[in-house]
Amino acid sequence: MVLLGSPGWAERATAVLLADPCFQLRSIQYLLGHAEPAAMAAAAPATEKRHFSLSTYTEYISAEELAKVDKMLSHLSEESKQAAATTLPTSEEDLCPICYAHPISAIFRPCSHKSCKACINQHLMNNKDCFFCKATITGVDDFTKPPSS
Ligand SMILES: [Zn+2]
Ligand SMILES: [Zn+2]
Repeated sequence: MVLLGSPGWAERATAVLLADPCFQLRSIQYLLGHAEPAAMAAAAPATEKRHFSLSTYTEYISAEELAKVDKMLSHLSEESKQAAATTLPTSEEDLCPICYAHPISAIFRPCSHKSCKACINQHLMNNKDCFFCKATITGVDDFTKPPSS
């Protein structure tokens, strides 16, 4: 767990996790033993219904590290709540055409193509070409859907 030991880990981990369209807060809550996904509980036979939790793995994870993960969880909960409050998808047309998981929240310069911030931020780490027209992206602006009349 190198990540947990370095300074600024919470911010970096949060940025990485929230940028991942597949990320689900529930999976971390599950790891911490805070929540048990219904599907897993249903699939497991009643006799083997042992609650998996990171806290049982004390050989690998110290109490201090566990506390850090706990802190990150509350940090993530807060970030997710804020993200959900500011960007609510209203229809399928407003969804990012790359991941179909997040609402469109970024508009590229100069070509004015759009995607969600998670997709474009991740994409820009590797190259600067627009997903759609391959124009070199010189900037990314916030995009909010103009009110439809
Ligand atoms: Zn996206
Ligand atoms: Zn473009």
